[in-house]
Amino acid sequence: MPERLGQSEEHRRSVLRALLWITLVAGLVFAAINFSRGLNALASLEVAYALFAGALLPIIGTTPHLWRWTVAYLVPFFCIMEFALVLPNTSFTVFAWIQTIPIISYLLLGRRGGFWMSLVFIGLGVVAFNVRYLTGDSALLQMVVVANIGFSSLAMMVFSHIYERSRVDNELRLIELAGTDSLTGLANRMRLTEEYRRIRSQVERNDEALSLVVLDLDWFKRLNDRYGHEVGDRALQHTARLVEARLRDSDLPCRIGGEEFALLLPGASLTQAADLADGLRAQLAQTPLQVGQEQVVITFSGGVATLGEDGADLSALLRIADRRMYEAKHSGRDQVVAAGQRYPLGAELAGSTAASRAAAAPSTDT
Ligand code: GH3
Ligand code: MG
Ligand code: MG
Repeated sequence: MPERLGQSEEHRRSVLRALLWITLVAGLVFAAINFSRGLNALASLEVAYALFAGALLPIIGTTPHLWRWTVAYLVPFFCIMEFALVLPNTSFTVFAWIQTIPIISYLLLGRRGGFWMSLVFIGLGVVAFNVRYLTGDSALLQMVVVANIGFSSLAMMVFSHIYERSRVDNELRLIELAGTDSLTGLANRMRLTEEYRRIRSQVERNDEALSLVVLDLDWFKRLNDRYGHEVGDRALQHTARLVEARLRDSDLPCRIGGEEFALLLPGASLTQAADLADGLRAQLAQTPLQVGQEQVVITFSGGVATLGEDGADLSALLRIADRRMYEAKHSGRDQVVAAGQRYPLGAELAGSTAASRAAAAPSTDT
């Protein structure tokens, strides 16, 4: 999950940057006020902390360890806050700052970090209040004040927790939606581009092969023209289900265009990918789509490319697989081409092509 929350990290970077600026300015302002009131220890801490915040500003823009830096910033921040709470000369209103603990923690650290940080420092705040007001004979010895501060801080924590949970859920749902083709439920081109980077570095680490198959349905325009767009859509879904059922969990089937699909196959060499694509081709041709009383045969032409021999980038593999797919089209459709090799190996291609054409789109249409 964290890998998919790149946006969250950017969002947290911006929140932390804003907070560092506020700390820098407010720290110096409060230090000046506290020096003038004779609270030298607190004022010195505030100056030191304001400078620390200023020094963090250039770091947090680029660091890959944002979480660690955030903790390194927040722990002293809340400690100074707690220190201000127990000092006898500070204003009682300093307790209002406790309520910022859950908001800041959840915004910067997410659900789990926010929960623990809030629990610890709100707890310490309550202890600080007890130390300061409930042990002496102060006039502020009122349980109602404790209840007000305690419950309002707790409420802030609960709201922050709920907010952060739904924010993360919504973000994940949006990421999922943005990468999914709504008609077939397969991944779309955007997800393919994203996943390619991850899968490629994974296969390179494990010294495995990686192949890409591009499939384009044959005579699809005729199928649409003859049976209607809705049947065309069903044909796309039919193909997607069949492809999905045949692939492994680690493979990535995608719809990358109108009637064009791409299959990213980690661990598959060029030959293995071509065999798989040819198996799919045969299976699709033998699994017609039921349209009323009719059985409509759907076929595709495919091209295969492999990492290394055919390039390293997704765009290079797509280009070469696409070119081979067009070779398959020009050689009669309902076949797969991989680096000079045509599948099905040794079959009577002209015959199968004629069959698919006759079923899916009768020649009278042309
Ligand atoms: P070829 O065998 O050479 O690939 O011919 P083709 O007819 O399959 O290819 P062509 O590019 O001529 O036509 C593709 C058609 O796919 C045109 C377009 O109307 C249709 N199409 C694109 N997206 C969708 C879709 O989401 N649903 C449906 N039903 N049709 C679509
Ligand atoms: Mg087509
Ligand atoms: Mg096409």
